Parts: sequence; C-alpha cells; structure tokens
Amino acid sequence: MTAIERTRVAIVGGGPAGMFLGLLLARGGIEVTVLEKHADFLRDFRGDTVHPSTLTLLDELGLGPAFEALPQRRITWVGADLDSGPAQLGDLSRLRGPHNYIALVPQWDLLELLADAASKEPSFRLLREAEASGLLWEGADSGAAPGKADDDGAAPAGARVAGVVWKPGGEGEPERHLEADLVVACDGRGSVVRAAAGLEPTAFGVPMDVWWFRVPRDPSDPEGAVGRIHRGQFLIMIDRGDYWQCGYVIRKGADAKLRSQGIAAFRDRLADALPWLAGRLAEAPASFDDVKLLDVRLDRLSRWHLPGFLAIGDAAHAMSPVGGVGINLAVQDAVAAARILRPALAGGGLVPEAVLQSVQRRRWWPTALIQAFQQLAHRAVVGKVLDEDAARAADWTTSEHVPLPLRMLDALPALRVVPARLVGIGPLPEHAPPWARR
Ligand SMILES: Cc1cc2nc3c(=O)[nH]c(=O)nc-3n(C[C@H](O)[C@H](O)[C@H](O)COP(=O)(O)OP(=O)(O)OC[C@H]3O[C@@H](n4cnc5c(N)ncnc54)[C@H](O)[C@@H]3O)c2cc1C
Repeated sequence: MTAIERTRVAIVGGGPAGMFLGLLLARGGIEVTVLEKHADFLRDFRGDTVHPSTLTLLDELGLGPAFEALPQRRITWVGADLDSGPAQLGDLSRLRGPHNYIALVPQWDLLELLADAASKEPSFRLLREAEASGLLWEGADSGAAPGKADDDGAAPAGARVAGVVWKPGGEGEPERHLEADLVVACDGRGSVVRAAAGLEPTAFGVPMDVWWFRVPRDPSDPEGAVGRIHRGQFLIMIDRGDYWQCGYVIRKGADAKLRSQGIAAFRDRLADALPWLAGRLAEAPASFDDVKLLDVRLDRLSRWHLPGFLAIGDAAHAMSPVGGVGINLAVQDAVAAARILRPALAGGGLVPEAVLQSVQRRRWWPTALIQAFQQLAHRAVVGKVLDEDAARAADWTTSEHVPLPLRMLDALPALRVVPARLVGIGPLPEHAPPWARR
C-alpha cells in the first residue's frame, strides 16, 4: 500500500538551492516540503565558499549574526602560489559593501543554519532520509489521480508533473507518493527527478577531475586557502581548522592511471609541490581509499521547466569548481525562483508554465556567462597547467610557464576587481524579497 500525502511545493534536494528556496517560500507563507536523501548535511565533498552576495542575502534574511557565529576563515584575495612567486588574481577587498571577503564555512554548518531558520516557519517541512526516485504525472484531460509514468518511463502525453515518488530510509520501507502543485528539482547535477521529467542537459567538455582528500593542518600553516601551481600540478587547499581539505586537479579520465602508480608516488608529487606538507603525508592520505574522485561536469538544460516542474541550481546547470561559484549561483537561482513563484503560489491553484519560464529567463544569462568564463578558464589555465609535455619543457623559475590570464591579473592590479566581482557577487545578484526579510 502506497502512503499518499500532499504539499503545495515539493522541493527535491536539501543542498544550497533547495534549502534557500524552502526557507524563502515558507517565509512567504507557502507550504513547502523539502526531501533530502541523506540523514544529515555532513558530506565533505561539498564546497565551503560563501560569497559576498550570499553574505548580504543572509543579512537581509536576518541570519547575519547566526552566520557570523559559525567558525569560519575569511579570504580577501584569491591567488596562486607559483614557482616564480605568489600571484594575486582577484582582490575582494576592492568590492563595495560590508562583505568584501569570501567566508570559508563547511557547507553542512550553513545548511543546518538554514534548516534551523526554516523550521521556525509553520509551513516548512524537511524530510531527511527521503530519497526521490521518480515523478507523479497527471493526465491533461483524464482528471484521474496522479500516477507514475509508464513502465518505459514515458510520461503520458500532455501530462503535468503532479508530485514525487520517494522512499524513506531503512530496509523494507514502502514507496510513498507526495502530491504537489509544483515540484522543484534541486537534487544537483545527477538529478533523478530531472531525468524522470525527460529533460537532458547539454554537456560542455571539461579537461579535469578532482581528487578530494584531507591532510592534517599544523597551527603554524598559512590560514584560509592555498592555491598551488607547480610543474603540471594544480592543488587547492581549504583551511578547516585542524585539517586541510585538499582538491588536487587531475586530467579528466586519468584517475585509474595515476592510482596505478601507487600512493607513495602521489605523496612524492604533493611533497614536491608543497615541501612543508611532506612530514605529515604518511598520516593522510594513508591510502587511495582516502582519496575520492570527484567527477567534474559542466552542463546546462536548454529548458528548465515543464508544466508543474522546475529545475534550478546544479540540476539545471552543473558547475565546474573553477572560481568556486556553484553554490552562489544555486542560491541566486533559489532567491529569484522564490520571488517569481510566490505571487502565483499565493493565488492558489497551479503555477502557469509562463511563470516557470520567467525563472529560467531571469537566471539563464548569468548562468551562461559564468559557464562561459569557466570554459575559458578550463582552456586557458587548467588545460595548460595540466599539459604534462609543456610542464616538463617549461622553466618553472620564471613566469614564462604561467598561463597568460594569470600573468595579466598579477601584473595589473586594477584588473583584479573583475574576477573578484564575477566570483564574489556574480553578474546578477538577487536580493531577498521584502516578505522574506526579518
Ligand atoms: C569538486 C567540486 C568542488 C566544488 N567546490 C565548490 C566550492 O568550493 N564553492 C562553490 O561555490 N561551488 C563548488 N562546487 C560546485 C557546487 O558544489 C555546486 O554548484 C552546488 O553545490 C550546487 O548546489 P545545489 O543545491 O544545486 O546542488 P547540491 O549541492 O548538489 O545539492 C543537492 C542535494 O540534493 C540531495 N539529493 C540528491 N539526489 C536526491 C534525491 N534523489 N532525493 C532527495 N535528495 C537528493 C543531495 O543529497 C544534496 O543535498 C564544486 C563542485 C565540484 C564538482
């Protein structure tokens, strides 16, 4: 027997997009249910960057003081440590406003803060360990109760999305149906409900994947973040107090080959890039079991909506880690969606597809612009750094090997405000609507 429930808006995924959207709509008096497949937010492969535009948004939502109280590091400039010396690439201190820095906060802390704020709204519900597996469809003319797609996954012709099929955690739990007037896919780049809706993103090639692992941190180490480019190696390290969360950039598809060379060879490469890490690498990463492969993707849906259905955040456009902008963009999507959707939802009934289309229209061009910037960075910086032949041939003690965009930013301080603005604020910052402010 399938348990059936109803909600006004079903949000699939409790990441940055889903939690911000849930909080804002609930503050607007709309009944929302967020389904999150995990029991908690403790997943260490998430980014940690909270950018100036998101910090401003938290202020507008009255959550600034609670956020300030979270343990955090702040970075005011973005740079890279090159063999020819440190290079400054983005200067956030030149941004106007109270938050001219990026806060590094483990994402689970931010998401818990949002969940806590949202739980104060009577129309908000977060279901943890609730994994969506498909969509419910309602035939345009049949008037029949919402149901699943055919066995071959095809939606009935002319149908609208009418809810979510999901399963609670735990062995043997039966499947459940959550009927909704609107389903919003916020379940990230591998979105299950997007696939169930039959929407497929266009993939743009990327030259890289990332190895994600931890190295113990010593109190005498630098604070904040470290970016290191050295002889074909590219390493980003995020300061999480007593350990470094490291992202080691590898060529796409090179994972198996590099692993076959053994963990000792990898540790040697790390110690070669950052000699001050050498003494602690035996401790971690102890083996390749500690090194997770993160598959980097860059893609975008051409259509973000169907009747009764909308995709935002990575579910609509997977972001590369370049610039650390994916969280910010997902948050901006959520704010724009809440502002545009609420009047239609408050009126009762279904949300016209034209309203869903307005969300896409609003967020499409900032997304496309940032993705174009990421593609440029992939070609002009990442691809060049990872080019092993060029790395072997280069003289690493001069700036000759340094990709041209990095050299220009380092040489011309006035230019550094451009990446700072693009990364820190984004092309179209969204603000909390008056009804969501506290
Ligand atoms: C290696 C790497 C490093 C990155 N580093 C950064 C960074 O430092 N800064 C930055 O801004 N961006 C970074 N990004 C990009 C960033 O992680 C994403 O753009 C951002 O998380 C998108 O937010 P989202 O809410 O759309 O999706 P997600 O953060 O992916 O959240 C999706 C949520 O949905 C849940 N979910 C998934 N499937 C289901 C289901 N079937 N049912 C219910 N729940 C489900 C997941 O558990 C998750 O909580 C990085 C990306 C990569 C690949």
